[in-house]
Amino acid sequence: MIPVKGYAAQDPKTDLAPWNFERREVGPHDVQFDILFCGVCHSDLHQIKNDWFPGIFPMVPGHEIVGKVVRVGSEVKKFKVGDLAGTGCLVDSCRICENCQQDLEQYCLNGNSQTYNGLEQDRKTPTYGGYSKTIVVHQDFVLHISEKLDLAATAPLLCAGITTYSPLRHWKVGKGHKLAVLGLGGLGHMGVKFGVAFGAEVTVLSTSPAKEKDAKLLGAHHFVVTTDPEQVKAARNSFDFILDTVSGEHDFNMYLSLLRTNGTHICVGVPSKPAEVQAFSLLGGRKSLAGSGIGGLAETQEMLDFCAKHNIVSDIELIDIKDITKAYARMLKGDVRYRFVIDIATL
Ligand code: NAP
Ligand code: ZN
Ligand code: ZN
Repeated sequence: MIPVKGYAAQDPKTDLAPWNFERREVGPHDVQFDILFCGVCHSDLHQIKNDWFPGIFPMVPGHEIVGKVVRVGSEVKKFKVGDLAGTGCLVDSCRICENCQQDLEQYCLNGNSQTYNGLEQDRKTPTYGGYSKTIVVHQDFVLHISEKLDLAATAPLLCAGITTYSPLRHWKVGKGHKLAVLGLGGLGHMGVKFGVAFGAEVTVLSTSPAKEKDAKLLGAHHFVVTTDPEQVKAARNSFDFILDTVSGEHDFNMYLSLLRTNGTHICVGVPSKPAEVQAFSLLGGRKSLAGSGIGGLAETQEMLDFCAKHNIVSDIELIDIKDITKAYARMLKGDVRYRFVIDIATL
């Protein structure tokens, strides 16, 4: 086994702290890479706090992982020592169900293996994430990372990037569409960048008036403060799509009123409590309420290649791992600009 230094939550009530654990030896199809940077996703916070479901503890969060390959198994053809590598939210899946066969491993019907707070496909070995020094992953779940982009700012593409890229591609959002990005945090700011890159007219819907300037710098065309009833009223019947990245409770009925006829509200944010949706909010204007989860491996590589080509990375604040609890507190208040990334050298 490979001894690894990490940072873990021992239970949902305790702050993260140093914790040593072990990873498997590098098998024939495995890639081991030393982690250099790991993004901080709001899902990390949801999961260490058991917001969604009881987690597997100790929990080493982190699924926006980039680093450098240090060892490859005998059957590994796609990577060599010294290559940059990345892993997102998945480290394995069944590979045989109809979704896996269609490169939709995120929707694996037999249960995929999440990078942390999950189990390997043996259904008993817990997985540990990227707030750690090194990781061993099957080569099929390791992504190529371009040398052209800033590495720390690339890490958030592995979750925030693909989670916003995938639905915009699925619904073919682009030229001629009015897209609203709801919530300007880690996912939201990537949604703005992709929406703009795909040619849509992008509006940010935010509870934070102070983010307007940044939204425009990110490329957004318009900004609506959702706590101002006048601005909300003026935005009714405006959007073809709302990409909802909100982590906390919010009123779906109010946001659905901002869609045009035939508009689609796409949930990617996952509040801990279920929301109430009035049927009237959907039937008036034949609206759709939809959702999307991360992305498959092929699409994640496509997104990374798209970002390398178009010079798209995340706007980040690099932090010391000792400041992780402070970073979570700021994230809870919506005070992210626009993704915290841990410098793993500080671990
Ligand atoms: P984040 O950086 O904290 O951003 C969330 C933003 O939502 C905040 O900055 C804030 O933006 C807004 N917000 C928060 N609470 C709100 C409330 N009660 N009402 C209205 N707006 C609110 O979080 P993130 O990392 O982007 O993640 C967002 C959500 O997506 C989380 O629930 C996360 O678990 C989920 N997620 C889902 C997937 C998936 O596969 N579908 C993948 C990754 C993450 P403003 O200041 O602009 O209002
Ligand atoms: Zn995430
Ligand atoms: Zn499957």
